[in-house]
Amino acid sequence: MRLVLVGPPGAGKGTQAQFIASHLSIPKISTGDIFRANVSGGTPLGKLAKEYMDRGDLVPDEVTVAMVRDRLSEDDAQEGFLLDGFPRNVPQAEVLKKMLDEFGTALDLVLELVVDDDEVVRRLAGRRTCRSCGKVWHELFDPPTQPGVCDACGGELFQRDDDREETIRHRLEVYQEQTAPLVAFYADEGILVGVDATGPVEEVTQRAMAVLRRFAD
Ligand code: ADP
Ligand code: ADP
Repeated sequence: MRLVLVGPPGAGKGTQAQFIASHLSIPKISTGDIFRANVSGGTPLGKLAKEYMDRGDLVPDEVTVAMVRDRLSEDDAQEGFLLDGFPRNVPQAEVLKKMLDEFGTALDLVLELVVDDDEVVRRLAGRRTCRSCGKVWHELFDPPTQPGVCDACGGELFQRDDDREETIRHRLEVYQEQTAPLVAFYADEGILVGVDATGPVEEVTQRAMAVLRRFAD
């Protein structure tokens, strides 16, 4: 299956993407994770992306699209994929459509994770990420056994630079202006399904999987 997850920063896209991709045995492709890996690795792409990410702005489309094209050309993405964080504006969605068309395929479904702004702020403010394995935790909603230490790998947890209050506010504005129009774009294409993303992580996964099973039948 070829899927896209949309939703505001903090909606739980990364968290859900991990479970959904594993249930469906498809790769999870998260543009935010790829950018962050490049920033930590000090690559030219990382150096360019960092200034936009730190401000909470989108990295320019040419750069992002080229990176996604490379990733979607890899072997493991030929039978399906779950995109998390891409597309993030209508021009990216249009390029993705053309790109898949060139590959002779198309998206099957776009899942919109629906949560209100207050919950998004609570989720972002408490988000902690493992420096070693990238697993995402939450200070209150999904705390590791020992504060500051990843249960999965023993790595150190940190707060992302862009999860500070000022930047969070700006990212939510960027979402409203640039990313929210994707909901109408994909509704017009007839492939948008909204999923209530409130409540425990497992319940949200179950709701998303129920939608995907209905689609597969
Ligand atoms: P969140 O899910 O919290 O919004 P992400 O990890 O998806 O965060 O993205 C972090 C940052 O990486 C974004 O604020 C943006 O700067 C950059 N980024 C990620 N995906 C894209 C994209 N598709 N287009 C442009 N910039 C992106
Ligand atoms: P996104 O990729 O959309 O920015 P994340 O998956 O990183 O969102 O989740 C943001 C924060 O919210 C993380 O700290 C995560 O542990 C937490 N979170 C995710 N889903 C839920 C949920 N259903 N209930 C409470 N907290 C959640």
